[in-house]
Amino acid sequence: MTDKLSTYRKKRDFSKTGEPEGRPVKRRSRKPVFVIQKHDASALHYDFRLEDEGVLKSWAVPKGPSTNPKDKRLAVPTEDHPMEYKSFEGTIADGEYGAGTVIVWDTGTFRNTSHVGDKEIPLAEGLERGHATFFLEGKKLRGGFALNRFRKERGREMWLLVKESDEFAGTAVSEESVRTGRTLDEVAARG
Ligand code: MN
Repeated sequence: MTDKLSTYRKKRDFSKTGEPEGRPVKRRSRKPVFVIQKHDASALHYDFRLEDEGVLKSWAVPKGPSTNPKDKRLAVPTEDHPMEYKSFEGTIADGEYGAGTVIVWDTGTFRNTSHVGDKEIPLAEGLERGHATFFLEGKKLRGGFALNRFRKERGREMWLLVKESDEFAGTAVSEESVRTGRTLDEVAARG
């Protein structure tokens, strides 16, 4: 658990950032959570995070998720984040890793639906194999999504985040925080 967050901690100075340091989290008998944070850093992107084995597995999605199954959204893996990060909203100071403003764009629970043929497999195994599927129950996003790895070279992986075709496809989504109702600009203005 602690080892999984070593890269996260190494990148940050917790005397200078308001981000959580991250403590080990015991496995609980509840549905796993996901969070998508909109992050106005050097380049605007959305951080897509899925709970797995006590941490938030994370991908940076430059264009953000789409509810249109025809859209394939590039998703580049980033370091595992602590569970407490799911409610982080605020501004990361200039000069610090990820400097810029963060809002909680969407959050909720999800159900792992990863499989090989007809056999269901754990999310971790799906991610290891490069093909994971899950059903999101968020405030904005609902329904089936897939993460597919299409490149793995010299430690640099590239994935695609794609909506699956179901009754929730094509839903319109808004841009404000689901936690506080604020926009990125409103959070940035308050410092
Ligand atoms: Mn980010």
